[in-house]
Amino acid sequence: MGRMSESLINLVMIAGCNYSGSTLLEMMLSRHSEAFGAGEFARFRLFLDETEPWTPTPEHPERSCACGAASLLRCAFWSRAMERARELYPHFNPNFERDPRRLMRHEEALLKACQSLTGARVLIDSSKNPDHLRRCLGSSAARVHVIHLTKDLREYSGSFQRRNPNRLLAYGTWIRRNARTERLGRRAASYFPLSYADLASNPQAVMTELYARLDLPYEDSFLRYWEGERHSIGGNRMRRAPQPIQYRPTRAGGLADRALYGTVGWAFNRRLLPPRRHV
Ligand SMILES: [Zn+2]
Repeated sequence: MGRMSESLINLVMIAGCNYSGSTLLEMMLSRHSEAFGAGEFARFRLFLDETEPWTPTPEHPERSCACGAASLLRCAFWSRAMERARELYPHFNPNFERDPRRLMRHEEALLKACQSLTGARVLIDSSKNPDHLRRCLGSSAARVHVIHLTKDLREYSGSFQRRNPNRLLAYGTWIRRNARTERLGRRAASYFPLSYADLASNPQAVMTELYARLDLPYEDSFLRYWEGERHSIGGNRMRRAPQPIQYRPTRAGGLADRALYGTVGWAFNRRLLPPRRHV
């Protein structure tokens, strides 16, 4: 990859399934001095609108910004970003998801505002939502780099089943989402399939490779991924209680799980889980 163009938004999209470690990767990448972490950018309006009812989930227990502000409306950074977006795009409306035809224009204005306020060369978006990814890939204002983060199907199914015992749904979701993300990723300026086990067991080697791909100079800031001022949207509990980076596979271990994996799961895992390059 050559030098990134200054006029385009350099957007690094962490894509794939939920429960795949994207919060950790987003926090690690965002610590880079030339990066800004927007978090789950596709959920911007949801985290903004204090008038809409909020249903806490294990992934999103509250609507707060990562800086601690109770909502994005109360965050000084996002307030300035919205002002800047309005200067860049006069039709900008923070409730932009209600304007589906011009959704990308609103998103581009806000991303450009983030870039201009922070001076970051790359913006990190960990939305994962494939519709959002598809929209960004169609943007003429953004150069999109996709990091497709995937957990072993058995580990994903284990995480999924802690919230929903339907293992067939877990399998279906993992297969559909990863196959679609892979197809979409091929249209990006760069596509980097990454196994979560690889990231968590050898973060140094993986981050060295990722920085090189993204044309960012090496820094070891990712090792203290929880530090620093941040304004990312969404993400799981890890934001509040950082843990050392270590690989602890959590697999669904019952007989039914092993039978399902033995009959169909292994083939999909072989097809869609990226091989570990750093063991
Ligand atoms: Zn904030």
